Amino acid sequence: MAASQDASLQAQGRTLLVFDFDWSLAEENSDTWVLQQLGAEEFYKAGRAAGTPWTKLMDQCLQEAASKLGRTRDDVGAALHAMPFDASLASLLRALERRGAGGKDSSGGSSTGSPDVDVIVLSDANTVYIDTILEHHGVAGAVMEVFTNPAEWRDGVLRVAPYHTDTAPHGCHHCPSNLCKGQVLRSFLQRQAAAGRSYARALYVGDGRGDYCPSVLLLHGSGSGGGTPAATATPTAEAAAAAAAVAAAAAETAEAADKPATTAASGGGSGAHAPAPPAPCGGGSNVVFVREEYPDGSPCSLWVMLRTEGGSSARDASGGNGRDGAALQRRRRGVVGWARPEQLAALLRQESLQGNQPVRDEAA
Ligand SMILES: [Zn+2]
Repeated sequence: MAASQDASLQAQGRTLLVFDFDWSLAEENSDTWVLQQLGAEEFYKAGRAAGTPWTKLMDQCLQEAASKLGRTRDDVGAALHAMPFDASLASLLRALERRGAGGKDSSGGSSTGSPDVDVIVLSDANTVYIDTILEHHGVAGAVMEVFTNPAEWRDGVLRVAPYHTDTAPHGCHHCPSNLCKGQVLRSFLQRQAAAGRSYARALYVGDGRGDYCPSVLLLHGSGSGGGTPAATATPTAEAAAAAAAVAAAAAETAEAADKPATTAASGGGSGAHAPAPPAPCGGGSNVVFVREEYPDGSPCSLWVMLRTEGGSSARDASGGNGRDGAALQRRRRGVVGWARPEQLAALLRQESLQGNQPVRDEAA
């Protein structure tokens, strides 16, 4: 097979498609969904009231659901199978898999040749939830790699651990202590580049505060992901500080449907040796597909945070141009809003299946 020839032909235009999971690829928050289905909301509420960090809270609630309510592995599995997952996004993933996406071998040796789109999932849920749901919908094969908190079954209880351990903190002040998606994305891109697999552009799909860090990394190439905004001294640092303040306000309204901020990561890191971001970070062809609102109409944190960048909202600045103008401005800044999964699927289908065509905005 002329794999190397194929790869060289496509190296110019390979796309990385990154999905957050909850409320981005899946149409629910898997963590809270499972606890609701298990009837374990009381444990969840008590843990939230006590300020328990998210991943520890999930681990604790799952233990209590098993020990106090007798919930089993089958119960958790049934909850995961019942979780809303939009058919149009499942269809998109299958289409990408048919085009070769999903080879588990990150060195490029996928079983179906050299795909022009690689798909990864970057989530603050856990491995068992995501793997189970992707497999249930027949789309696991489209995903090259899932980065999330590790989970495993122990004596009939699902145990969840943080992605980043306390002994190796990520040092990013944007992200919760258990996971810095920016750092994970940066590491992935560096690993891929070292293996001779680089990307011309990245498409990122997200909704929450945890998606801000990788979004900024892709849009501006700095300000997150293990380095520090102060060290890189770009205008992004200032915008990030403003966005952090807005995010706190957004949390008031978006909390119910979003991941909590949990605790801020300890320290800001020295940042003195922050490496240059790997390609395609900061590239003008990257696009962040940001959910604007949840089904109940509450705003998504990432949307509020990115709107703050640049000092004025795209919508406010659209003036008499209305929604068309607003969408165009967002597109120029590499940010495209969406609200419903079928809308996202259409945008991604156009962007990822047809190559470097302009993304049609939602008003078109
Ligand atoms: Zn981060």
